[in-house]
Amino acid sequence: MDDVVSGGCLCGYVRFEYGDKLGPANYCHCTDCRKTTGSAFNIGIRTHASTLRIIAGKVKSYTKTADSGNAITREFCPECGSPLFTRASAKPQFVWIKAGSLDDPSLVKPTYQIWTDHAVPWSHIDTNLPSFPGNRTIANTNDA
Ligand SMILES: [Zn+2]
Ligand SMILES: [Zn+2]
Repeated sequence: MDDVVSGGCLCGYVRFEYGDKLGPANYCHCTDCRKTTGSAFNIGIRTHASTLRIIAGKVKSYTKTADSGNAITREFCPECGSPLFTRASAKPQFVWIKAGSLDDPSLVKPTYQIWTDHAVPWSHIDTNLPSFPGNRTIANTNDA
């Protein structure tokens, strides 16, 4: 069981398992990924569709034709809306898992970026920014 990677959505309705070594992970800065994640970029981990098993719940999906002309299907929890998987019509053998859905996020090691022409300036984290090991509280800052 050590080799089984598990994950799921925020509310726990959708749970999945993947019984193989995770494929490469990438940052995608495309406009569609920004919209669907509600954040600066998506991080997708490539897996084999035949090995990925949804063990609880049922995803809802939304399909959109990408700039490449390929139909991209994004799957999410119908209860809490957490983005979970991406499928591409051109590569039906693969499913990309959204990195944040894994139970053990330390398994994620992104190796490349795509669509960097579309990256927003705030997707780069400035190492000079104040940072806090826990939540930022009123006590340790002067501004709101
Ligand atoms: Zn959910
Ligand atoms: Zn993208």
